Amino acid sequence: MKAAIFDIDDTLLSSKEDEEDDFIQLARNLLDRANEDEETLTVLLTARAEEIRDETIEKLNEAGINFDRLYMRPENRFEVRDEVYKKSVLEDLRSEGLDISFAVDDKNFVAEMWRDNNVTCLKLPERQYLRNRFYRKTRKLYPLLPRPLQRLFQRYYRYRYRKRIKD
Ligand SMILES: [Mg+2]
Repeated sequence: MKAAIFDIDDTLLSSKEDEEDDFIQLARNLLDRANEDEETLTVLLTARAEEIRDETIEKLNEAGINFDRLYMRPENRFEVRDEVYKKSVLEDLRSEGLDISFAVDDKNFVAEMWRDNNVTCLKLPERQYLRNRFYRKTRKLYPLLPRPLQRLFQRYYRYRYRKRIKD
């Protein structure tokens, strides 16, 4: 069995929703084709956290995006860098015996990780470069926060995505 891997933000869903985006359309077309192939498992792999699984599924359904599996950053693990988390999922998929056909992602560090691990990566333009770098730099602070602040952050994170859905 083969697997095709797709990132979500700025790959299947645009961070600027009002804009037509040819790259997003391209990624969705690839996903549609992978979904039609019975030999291919379609995997959405996002650094979005489990905290917002329901909101994410709602948004994907709204956009008509179909998939076999959805992997999300484990709960309360905001310190883990995207490419580190995604690499761990790659290892899980491979140990299941899946043959990875390709991965689609927008982030430079993630694309590098795919290529370093012999996965063909279709790299889309990274739209939120500065914001992504800021999050990347601050991730390791998260485990140092006291528990109540971590809980507050988790609540804010859920709120942010819930709000995004209604916009
Ligand atoms: Mg992305």
